[in-house]
Amino acid sequence: MRPFGVPLAEFVRGALSSRLVIWPKGPGPARLGVTTAGLTCWRCKRDTQVIVTVHVAHPRHDEVCFSLSWDEGGVWGDGSPVKQLLARLLTPEVRGPLNLGAIKPRFSKTVGGMYLSQGCTRCDALQGDYFIMELRHEAFYDGQARAPSVWLPFTLDQSLLQTGQEWHFLPAVPSS
Ligand SMILES: [Zn+2]
Repeated sequence: MRPFGVPLAEFVRGALSSRLVIWPKGPGPARLGVTTAGLTCWRCKRDTQVIVTVHVAHPRHDEVCFSLSWDEGGVWGDGSPVKQLLARLLTPEVRGPLNLGAIKPRFSKTVGGMYLSQGCTRCDALQGDYFIMELRHEAFYDGQARAPSVWLPFTLDQSLLQTGQEWHFLPAVPSS
């Protein structure tokens, strides 16, 4: 039996020394990272990246982390707490090096209205949620997905707690 992929004896010792944690326990500090995938913009035909998966990590432990889709709880809309968080955290300074466009309301013919969306880094054209959903599957399948390279500190609030809460087993900390 290898709970959390560690030998049972180590697991028991760890659990007794507070290495078994439930996280997130409540609102508090966390870090956000994004997995992106590249595509050719349908309008300007140049390369841009879009966010396919969002990762929320513990402020100190990288392995204590959960993932969400970019449109979790609000595809083709503005209601997704993930979209709202990204719109707030991904400033032009953060987006530039990642080759990501702005997250803002854009008009979609498919949907027949405006929604909080991703866009081309060059020409700002809408990169639709349905298209990103498809791209996510492809990117992970063919290995084109680009893992997070920056981690942005933020305060985790109630809106993301329920989706993310689970047990984690922290790696052993070398005793000093
Ligand atoms: Zn473009």
